[in-house]
Amino acid sequence: MSTAPHQADASIIWISGPVLHARVERNLRINEAVLIGTKRLLGEVIRIHEDEAVIQVFEDTSGLRPGDGIASTGAALSVRLGPGLLGNIFDGLLRPLSSQAPYVQPGIHQSRGHANYPFKPSVKLGDTLAGGSVFGGVRRQDAVAQRCLLPPDIGGEVIEIAPAGDYPEHHVVCRVRDARGDNRKVTLSHRWPVRQPRPVAARIPIEGPLFTGQRVLDSMFPLACGGRAAMPGGFGTGKTVLQETLAKWCDADIIVYVGCGERGNEMASVLNEFPTLDDPRTGRALMERTVIIANTSNMPVAAREASIYTAVTVGEYFRDQGMRVALMADSTSRWAEALREVSGRLGELPGEAGYPAYLSSRQAEFYERASHVRTLANEVGSLSIIGAVSPPSADFSEPVTTHTKRYVHCFWALDAGRAQARFYPAIHPLQSYSADIDMLVAFWNQHGHPQWLEQRRRFLGLLEEQARLERMARIVGKDALPPRQQHILLCAELVNEAFLRQSAFSVSDRYCSAARQIAMMQIISQFIDLSEAAIDAQVSVEVIAALPLMRRLRRMGEDIDDDHIEALEALQDEMEAEFARLTKEARRHAG
Ligand code: ADP
Repeated sequence: MSTAPHQADASIIWISGPVLHARVERNLRINEAVLIGTKRLLGEVIRIHEDEAVIQVFEDTSGLRPGDGIASTGAALSVRLGPGLLGNIFDGLLRPLSSQAPYVQPGIHQSRGHANYPFKPSVKLGDTLAGGSVFGGVRRQDAVAQRCLLPPDIGGEVIEIAPAGDYPEHHVVCRVRDARGDNRKVTLSHRWPVRQPRPVAARIPIEGPLFTGQRVLDSMFPLACGGRAAMPGGFGTGKTVLQETLAKWCDADIIVYVGCGERGNEMASVLNEFPTLDDPRTGRALMERTVIIANTSNMPVAAREASIYTAVTVGEYFRDQGMRVALMADSTSRWAEALREVSGRLGELPGEAGYPAYLSSRQAEFYERASHVRTLANEVGSLSIIGAVSPPSADFSEPVTTHTKRYVHCFWALDAGRAQARFYPAIHPLQSYSADIDMLVAFWNQHGHPQWLEQRRRFLGLLEEQARLERMARIVGKDALPPRQQHILLCAELVNEAFLRQSAFSVSDRYCSAARQIAMMQIISQFIDLSEAAIDAQVSVEVIAALPLMRRLRRMGEDIDDDHIEALEALQDEMEAEFARLTKEARRHAG
């Protein structure tokens, strides 16, 4: 298709960076994808007023000139979803990149994929399939097994199905006759408009957490599987390490990582690092179940704006295959800045901190696509979303962070003070929260931990008291605090050191199973009870603090791994014996 002006559906009037105004000749609709100029740069119609359209362009617009033609594509901005996604790196519009050359040539549209994929049908002639049904599977050597889905809007009687074999993505492997009697071709991949949530049979209630193996998350601020979390934090507070830790250890089948980098090199480090990560579950490359979508700051700003929707659409596609998907977005602040920049070019009235008034609704649209569903293929799938936020000067009252808070259920606040003290993960227990707690009680009950809610509340209560007492101690001195209060400080310190601290780099502790989290919570709770009773029996806080046992308790996460949980029980027995001895001794002295 040529886009010479005489055939064009519109022509450029003027251009300002990623935005252009065009005179509409025919056929253009709002939200439609268009191809611009002789290089066929990809754009999207944002507004139409009378015969003038405003279009955002997802590629570098230098070289375009007034008068250049614009061709309609007849479809909304969409991406091709198929078996070639896993293991690969794409730009914000799902065009393939490589970690060596993280950019694409302008005008190159999403590759149709020349690779062949080993397809095996799971339906036969005459079967009747509803839209979105599974019709086969693809098992690549270098990726986890995938299902082939009919597009959600195509269903009917199977009138042709290819035998098992290797086929490229665009090969017609199935034909169905739909309710209107039309024959519809089905390939291994299909297109879907990125701004439109993929349909599901039903949203279903949460069943359990996205388990991460991180104590501060699972036991204190858990995220429901299919839920939404935000991770705000300033530079160096551990966002990247935490995202990688989650990607490696959380119990999702598929990881979708979308990076909006501030600086090219930040993204480059992710692009270089992710492909080297091992999947701890399989010992193979983590990339086998990962899709990366990358935007560096030198990529056009409108593509960064679109990338978030592209990533969610990819996440939904795997969810619809009945998988558990975790989507990490790093960072949504850079995405919001892209929104602000495009809005500025559109001449819109700026709102708070220059962001457009629709910042909040766009964030809502993104996070609301997190879901736990019954799919059109009648399976259970989930998409959990974890968005990193990088507020300027770590100020959590700025607009992106405050709006994010309205739409997420979990808020994992990364604290600069903790990070400076090299306390990791630097999630601040008093600034963080999870609204998924009540739904996750059943999970811990099933694991034999009916005390979870109460112990969690107790730990948080101690940490709150600690903050209050430390403020007081700064004035009166710690020694002036009565024994009960010194005891609270001792216990809170143990919760922090033994439980919340967990190094992502410790071989024994980087992952903590549910069973070990429970054993550790039990032992700390038991310590609180025993030490309280000992203080009642006149044992001094100093004596307890000086027990050699304390060091072992603080280090139990490091010293006792998941394969030796029985050692925690032994430690608990020792602790009980030690306190029995102390209390007896104190009584003897008193007597
Ligand atoms: P950010 O992405 O927020 O700028 P990083 O994730 O790069 O910060 O973390 C900065 C440094 O902090 C890391 O290089 C690492 O040394 C340390 N760090 C962060 N999180 C952890 C963790 N969970 N365990 C151990 N060290 C950590």
